[in-house]
Amino acid sequence: MGKKKSSVPPEEHLLLPPHPARPDAQATPIVDTHTHLLSTFSFYRSKYKQGKCETVYDFVRDMYKGRGVEAIVDVYCEAPVQAQWRELADSALSEEDRKRRWGGLEYWFVMGVHPHEAKEYNDDVEREILEAMAHPRCVGWGEIGLDYHYDNSPRERQQEVFIRQLQHAVRLGKPLTIHTREAEEDSERILKQYVPKDHRIHIHCYTDSPEWASRMLDYFPNLYIGITGVITYATNLNTSAVIRQMAVTSQSPFRILLETDAPFMTPSNIYNSLKDVKGRLPLSHSAMIPWTAAFVADVANEAAAQDARWDVDQIMRTGRENARKMYGV
Ligand SMILES: [Zn+2]
Repeated sequence: MGKKKSSVPPEEHLLLPPHPARPDAQATPIVDTHTHLLSTFSFYRSKYKQGKCETVYDFVRDMYKGRGVEAIVDVYCEAPVQAQWRELADSALSEEDRKRRWGGLEYWFVMGVHPHEAKEYNDDVEREILEAMAHPRCVGWGEIGLDYHYDNSPRERQQEVFIRQLQHAVRLGKPLTIHTREAEEDSERILKQYVPKDHRIHIHCYTDSPEWASRMLDYFPNLYIGITGVITYATNLNTSAVIRQMAVTSQSPFRILLETDAPFMTPSNIYNSLKDVKGRLPLSHSAMIPWTAAFVADVANEAAAQDARWDVDQIMRTGRENARKMYGV
């Protein structure tokens, strides 16, 4: 039996070239508003066993160097809570540590229990989340919500755990990161019932209908639509439809947030810039956001008036500004 040959491209391809439409990376900094850093790093280690990044800090310093990654919002959504959250968050407390360990990156995080894991939610988990909410680098509660696509936890349990977390987050005034998939009716009903109209809400990795997005944007003035690399996939038409809808109506500047949801959702247009790469990159990371922004600009231009053209920089700036409004980062 022959050894199975790994098909992943050499790791230097993860260090992306500058985006062609964004030669000055510092001019339009990247803020990745939703990334799973620990799983991205463990994915990297499993795909590149001899990889040169030995720690999560090495990974961040190497991959994001010179790429203008200014800030990330890391997401902890497992139950039980991943114990490393405290070390990572503490290591971002002082400016000196952020320079030394994180290469100057502003590290922020949110925490909550994902609907997939709702069946594991209990008082101990909740106590730890509440503790994390008091950490100076914590900027929100999430990702929480409903997922009727996979139904990994019973729907009733998902709703119960969603509501419980919403009530705590609202009481604490914490911005919300929402995961909702094929659960439009229940997500809308629960959000409208338990969350004040002016609360800050990020509907992350948006793939649901443009009608739902429109209703939610109208009802909640501080709600944002999270755009990941999934917008570049031929299997998903909804996310582009939402962008076109924003480009023709006056929901301008776009109420979008740019995010990766790393390690998943590598933007498919990245391979236009990686012509020599054979195979597919096994993971995504925050420096890929300009490719998603470029795709958003193209989609917006399909619908926008001739005198309202969008380019990568404008989309990046909009995403950056909205990240500040949403999470204060
Ligand atoms: Zn996520």
